[in-house]
Amino acid sequence: MNLALLGPPGSGKGTQSEKLVRKYGFFHVSTGDMLREEVKQNTPLGKGLYGILKRCELVQDALMIELLGQYVTHFAGKSVLLDGFPRTVPQARALSAIVDVDLVVVLSAPVELVLERMGGRWVCSACATTYHTSFAPPRQQGVCDRCGANLVQRTDDQPATIRRRYGLYTTQTQGVLAFYQNLGKMVRIDGTMNSDVVFETICQAVEKK
Ligand code: AMP
Repeated sequence: MNLALLGPPGSGKGTQSEKLVRKYGFFHVSTGDMLREEVKQNTPLGKGLYGILKRCELVQDALMIELLGQYVTHFAGKSVLLDGFPRTVPQARALSAIVDVDLVVVLSAPVELVLERMGGRWVCSACATTYHTSFAPPRQQGVCDRCGANLVQRTDDQPATIRRRYGLYTTQTQGVLAFYQNLGKMVRIDGTMNSDVVFETICQAVEKK
């Protein structure tokens, strides 16, 4: 059983992936993590990827397909949870030659919710403790409880960046959703529900397959 999890940033893909891996023992393949690791290691590939990732643009299909193809040895024979792949129709077509996806779960969340979830995140400029204005507020606004330094917002969590990433996701993945819808493999799940309820709903879809 192989599963692909799609959804805009802030829809809960990370949380749900962790839960699914714990419950079913899926081998988690996150293409975003693979690419960030290349950048972190400063490999020749990573050097070229830095700007693309920073601008939240898509990496070329041919390169992504090749990277995933090379990674196959890590998950051959295992049940895979794909997170962040496929993002385009050519990737979806190429994927069928690499892994047979049985189910595509799409987590939906409106931009307002994503803005609240991600835009409320603040981090201490000195000790990196994280806070959330709604779920884990600091005692004093803008000040770290632990060390008293200023709280700052990461560029990724700023409203303008969130809106841009959300818009890019929507336009980029439309074709992929239609592709899997036509194959009868897609289920859309309301990502605004409590994360335990979202998880239960995903599990029901997995077990039905
Ligand atoms: P993610 O963590 O899945 O949001 O991915 C982070 C970034 O990696 C994206 O904004 C893209 O720049 C790149 N990326 C990840 N997966 C893909 C993919 N399947 N195709 C093209 N670019 C990707």
